[in-house]
Amino acid sequence: MSQIDEVIAKVKEKDGDQPEFIEAVTEVLGTLRPTEEKHPEFVKAKIYERIVEPDRVIIFRVPWEDDKGEIHVNRGFRVQFNNAIGPYKGGLRFHPSVNLGIIKFLGFEQIFKNSLTTLPMGGGKGGSDFNPKGKSDREVMRFTYAFMRELFRHIGPDTDVPAGDIGVGAREIGYLYGYYKKIKNEHTGVLTGKGLEYGGSLIRPEATGYGVVYFTMNMLATKGMDLKGKTIVVSGAGNVAQYAVEKSLEYGGKVITMSDSNGAVVDMDGIDRGKLDYVMDLKNVRRGRIREYVQKYPHAKYYEGKSVWDVIRDEGIKVDVALPCATQNEIHGDHAEAMVKNGLIAIVEGANMPSNLDAIHIYQDSGVLFGPAKAANAGGVAVSGLEMTQNSMRLSWTREEVDAKLREIMKKIHDTSLEAAAAYGKPGDYLTGANIAGFLKVAKAMLAYGVV
Ligand code: NDP
Repeated sequence: MSQIDEVIAKVKEKDGDQPEFIEAVTEVLGTLRPTEEKHPEFVKAKIYERIVEPDRVIIFRVPWEDDKGEIHVNRGFRVQFNNAIGPYKGGLRFHPSVNLGIIKFLGFEQIFKNSLTTLPMGGGKGGSDFNPKGKSDREVMRFTYAFMRELFRHIGPDTDVPAGDIGVGAREIGYLYGYYKKIKNEHTGVLTGKGLEYGGSLIRPEATGYGVVYFTMNMLATKGMDLKGKTIVVSGAGNVAQYAVEKSLEYGGKVITMSDSNGAVVDMDGIDRGKLDYVMDLKNVRRGRIREYVQKYPHAKYYEGKSVWDVIRDEGIKVDVALPCATQNEIHGDHAEAMVKNGLIAIVEGANMPSNLDAIHIYQDSGVLFGPAKAANAGGVAVSGLEMTQNSMRLSWTREEVDAKLREIMKKIHDTSLEAAAAYGKPGDYLTGANIAGFLKVAKAMLAYGVV
């Protein structure tokens, strides 16, 4: 049995109650097999076994009071997974589904993603099972203060630098940073995704969505194609989805879907700039639901209780490019099969692990271009890294400067992934290439440190 098989078996046994973490370890280690043979030194040093065990896991109580004075208790998490190449870095997620297995899966993936960006950042992730939906601003503020009241002692600009993720946007980062600053008496780069007035970077809100589309353009270019006139489906209506739509439109694509956790909208006329502005106002300012889109644009159709992928499958809609930007495990084998049958050209992941293992096998067998999350959505954390640099240097780059760096980083991630795939016997396989390229740098650093 190879060491990788042994490690996967051990994780299944030890962390049997963490299905998402097991899925992520199986996916990543499964693609690292060619490294075992080429690097016996990794096997000897048990790097594969060490890398699936977080440096530390912090779980804490978050008690807070709602507007009526009633006390609630949520659970907070921070998983500091690996800091071999830089301070822990990764977002915070506030969503009722959050548990240890989900935070571990995200933190584990983050190690390789951050390494791929070429910036010095380790991997971490955190969050809480708190549900911000339906809460007043004051309630969200009291919750985030309570969360930071414990988190502050575990983070720092050279230790661990959290950012946003699902349920943690500009408002939450503002409260989190404000409270950190208050109790530490320090104005420092301890969080990214900050407002422009207090140390944020231009392009950070746009970075993940833009990066996904830059990556897509790089992939299409290898086949002599681009996004002009392509039919694009996007899931989600949050941060990543909004800016993926914006950039797709700039490149001349036709986006026909957006969604939220209640349902999906299909607009066969295309979601144009004006309609996207409506969605941005609906989701970011009014905090409404995507179903309201059809009240404003009655020619579009809303499907309650269905994901974008259910609708595409059930209605037999032809799709050129798919950009899943909502959440993990949204695309299953039958969804993937339906899209591939209908001539899908590329699927590029904005969300983390949106495709389950069955779906990934279908992409790989069919030869469609598959841009895995770790590579394709790394633009967000890359610009977070640039935000850290600007904070340390105490200066701000212009929009054009940051955007140019983002484009360059996405191109580098694309090319590095392809090169690693070819070097390890899997030409054209971005998943294997991204995992191997991200892994090598971290593994070599771990080896250099000895047994720690
Ligand atoms: P947001 O909270 O801004 O948006 C998430 C969107 O996905 C919302 O439309 C939400 O709907 C929908 N959604 C959430 N959970 C589900 C679910 N279980 N089923 C269907 N739809 C769901 O988050 P982000 O846009 O920041 O994140 C989206 C994805 O991108 C996540 O996987 C995240 O980890 C990943 N990502 C984000 C980065 C970033 O920079 N923000 C960086 C890299 C990856 P609703 O409004 O109903 O909740």
